[in-house]
Amino acid sequence: MPTDLPPAFWIAWWGVFGLIVGSFLNVCIHRLPREGQSVWHPRRSHCPKCGHQITWRENLPVLSWVLQRGRCASCAWRIPWRYPLVEALTALLFALAAWRATVGAPDGQGDWALVPVWSLVLAGLVVATFVDFDFFEIPDEVSIGGMVVAPVASLLVPALHAETWVAQRFSEGAEVDRVGALLGCVAGMLVGGGMLLAIGKVGSRLFGRDAMGFGDVKLLAAGGGFVGPGGAAAAMMIGAILASVVGLLNLVRFTCFSRQRARARGATKSFGRSLQSGRIAARYIPFGPYLGIGIGIVLLDWNHVLRLLRLLLQG
Ligand SMILES: [Zn+2]
Repeated sequence: MPTDLPPAFWIAWWGVFGLIVGSFLNVCIHRLPREGQSVWHPRRSHCPKCGHQITWRENLPVLSWVLQRGRCASCAWRIPWRYPLVEALTALLFALAAWRATVGAPDGQGDWALVPVWSLVLAGLVVATFVDFDFFEIPDEVSIGGMVVAPVASLLVPALHAETWVAQRFSEGAEVDRVGALLGCVAGMLVGGGMLLAIGKVGSRLFGRDAMGFGDVKLLAAGGGFVGPGGAAAAMMIGAILASVVGLLNLVRFTCFSRQRARARGATKSFGRSLQSGRIAARYIPFGPYLGIGIGIVLLDWNHVLRLLRLLLQG
């Protein structure tokens, strides 16, 4: 990167690029889980309600949605606010990745090479998260794609595994080299995927149903390739805590909701039966989104996560 311009300029520019990528991620989120639809074809998107072809003017990230007040220009169909949300979120994550990898690096030693790799991982996580919310599945394009990209990225940008213990251990010098980074990546994929696979096996023995989707196993295997074995374990813990909190909130919400509905119908519903319907609602929360958030947090803020872990475990 040319250094005669301040880093803030490049970070802002990368954020704007994130807006455009976010627009493409919307297409991926919509088309990847649907059989027989290609991300590349048709190039132009259509309004799902009236089939109106969206012009470039109506396709400006966030801006078009605001200008059209969230409606299709042709039929006034309400465009879900998720579209501008995904675009704004991607822009924010890209800017954050650019800042974190450069001027915001903990040792003050920036590395611009990390920016495209981290951004690619974050883009994949955004797609996995939103598709999993809708379809309870994680596209193989993201999970298996990540497992293919991780070793290549580790070879190209060994700094990716600067905090990975395995990578440090097997590197020759003080800095992580290519061999070390590759070993850290492979160890991360094995530990990430292996942990969830083992938990899933134990879970299905205990509860007699599939506790863990195989999509989650593949996602954490891919994530582990970028954050290493320790990072994968931390990402899983963060994901589990988040999913438990959301599950608990769902349990409370649906238990109350179910009682309220029964009362509105004039029927009396026992607390036990309300709790039952709440429990069913809490059971069906996808794990992928929370796992994705965990991987994202570790990716961008591994140092803080490490410090917190030390604080918790060592007192
Ligand atoms: Zn329309």
